[in-house]
Amino acid sequence: MSGSPLPAEPNLYVHVPFCAGKCAYCAFYSEGAFAPGDVRDYLALLPRELALRGLSGMRPQTVYVGGGTPSQLGADGIRALFAALPPPAPDAEVTVEANPADMTPALAGALRECGVTRVSLGAQSFSAATLARLGRRHGPDAIRQAAALVRAAGIGRLSLDLIAATPGELDGEFQNSLQSAIALEPDHVSVYPLSVEPGTPFANAGVRPPSDEDALAAVALAEETLGAAGFSRYELSNYARPGAECRHNLAVWLGEDYVGAGPAACSRMQRLRRANAPGFHAWRDALRGDELPPAQTETLSVCDDEAERFSTRVRLREWALPAPDSDIGRRRAATLARLAELGLAHSPKPGIWSLTARGREVADSVAAELL
Ligand code: SF4
Repeated sequence: MSGSPLPAEPNLYVHVPFCAGKCAYCAFYSEGAFAPGDVRDYLALLPRELALRGLSGMRPQTVYVGGGTPSQLGADGIRALFAALPPPAPDAEVTVEANPADMTPALAGALRECGVTRVSLGAQSFSAATLARLGRRHGPDAIRQAAALVRAAGIGRLSLDLIAATPGELDGEFQNSLQSAIALEPDHVSVYPLSVEPGTPFANAGVRPPSDEDALAAVALAEETLGAAGFSRYELSNYARPGAECRHNLAVWLGEDYVGAGPAACSRMQRLRRANAPGFHAWRDALRGDELPPAQTETLSVCDDEAERFSTRVRLREWALPAPDSDIGRRRAATLARLAELGLAHSPKPGIWSLTARGREVADSVAAELL
């Protein structure tokens, strides 16, 4: 990708590949065991990847540091990470994901000092038993303490992640988690039903995923409870107070370009797709030799590129049809009219479309129909 033109307003994703063990449900790439030297190498080589790919001069409008567990870097590691990244634009949104177990006054202070505007805490549940079953390394009190530290440090935005429909949850536990999350006054909440992916400890232990009925009921409860507290469901799994939507993720869902750095990070630049291979050691060894890290790259056709960018739009509360006067735009408008007759989509105002409550339940099928 070296030499590819930077988008006018680039969005930067940075993957931190380290975790202190693996959660029972986790299918993301991360190293569950690592040495201090690995972190030093990662921080030293990140600028080399950016330089080799011609990205050192970018001025990102949004930065999203995810993983993995970025908070495993600690206060000094976070300072080193931001020193290694290109400086964001003055009004950029800068998000860092954190595990509540790692949050300390020093880490919260370092995040604030480095210009972080948004912390996304992996709360997942406020039930000690459910957290233990999920393999999380924190209890409910650690979430409350972490949220208080983020606020005390003066970081403007706080987001909480919750997992819905965890098998074995008792009646009322998920509702209690929603209420406990709301009590911390976050600006944003993400709610994903549990999925059991091949190769995870849950899958290996034969844990069955929640039924569609249970998952839909939990999502409906989340929408109702968070809605009553002033959160709007702006994407299928994401809720925000007015104006507190995640700018980075919104840009991706709206089909904008983004660049990703670090092992397993993905990029979309014009029609080019790049997915760094999910392996820290191969990433490190290539960069030590001044070579680009191993990656899968693909240049999509104009049609596939447009379809991929459109596919995530339908997950948003409202969206406009791109290129309504083109052949594909007219075909999509005809499909939407048919979906409206089936009660799956509607047009709240001319040129704007939205899924109905039933359409949101079968959003993947609706997106497939439109593509
Ligand atoms: S902390 Fe996040 S990335 Fe790490 S193992 Fe748990 S779920 Fe996966």
